[in-house]
Amino acid sequence: MRIFKDIKPLRKFISDQKHKDHRIGLVPTMGALHEGHLALVRSCVDQNDITVCTIYVNPAQFDRKSDLTNYPRPLQADLRALKKTGCQVVFTPDDQVMYPASPLMHCSFGPLENTMEGVHRPGHFRGVALIVAKLLNIVQPHHAYFGQKDWQQVVIIRQLVKDLCFPLQIIDIPIVREKDGLAMSSRNSLLSKQRRKLAPQLYRALQLAREHLKNSHSVHEAREAGIRHLDQFANIRLEYLEIVDLQTLQAPSKPVGNKPLSICLAANLGKIRLIDNVKVF
Ligand code: AMP
Repeated sequence: MRIFKDIKPLRKFISDQKHKDHRIGLVPTMGALHEGHLALVRSCVDQNDITVCTIYVNPAQFDRKSDLTNYPRPLQADLRALKKTGCQVVFTPDDQVMYPASPLMHCSFGPLENTMEGVHRPGHFRGVALIVAKLLNIVQPHHAYFGQKDWQQVVIIRQLVKDLCFPLQIIDIPIVREKDGLAMSSRNSLLSKQRRKLAPQLYRALQLAREHLKNSHSVHEAREAGIRHLDQFANIRLEYLEIVDLQTLQAPSKPVGNKPLSICLAANLGKIRLIDNVKVF
């Protein structure tokens, strides 16, 4: 497995691979890899000749300084896990490489970011779009892999790729969960034992809302059911629970019928902020 810290040698390596007609897949991550990330990497390894996994904790997408400082960075364990998947290339740039000067350009996504994470984490998607655009431009892959765990991010990245005409295919991969239903996240390791026990209630609330939606077809009732469930737990502070159109991320038009929807939430357990979502077809 080749490890690159700089852009130029990575570009040279990739260009050589493209001359051999090799298909390139990209998996952008912030490290502290778990089975959710590895599912993306394994799909990439299956579908491409060369898998490039990037590990970079992108300061531009953090709205809370403490979250950035406390973000886990177990690089050696990550490299061992990646090696086992058959990943051929890891790109681990530092801030100087990714942001040699403060960037002036920024993207905004109108209605796609005027909701949920975009509202609760101001500037988050501006930071995500910038780093993803940089990585897509550096690696120029045939395929790039993202997790459905960050559904709003998937929708926004698809828009970015469409608007900027990046010649590649975005592939989104289903959420990988712990046995008790908690969506895997690098932040789970930061939960206290007591809060870790409580955390699967987030998924339970999403399931309850989904059941209500299927039975009553009322978005309002379903949303209330999910919120009520989490209200019981003093140690869970819900930021939002929204039911939105899967693609536009807007409130669904009535009647909802069989339109694909997404139920998304964000909640704080102590200082740790977690997000999750389920699809409804
Ligand atoms: P992150 O390191 O949190 O930026 O995540 C890197 C990529 O892994 C993103 O595309 C995430 O959506 C994806 N990811 C994170 N957790 C999961 C999970 N539990 N299941 C599937 N994909 C995930």
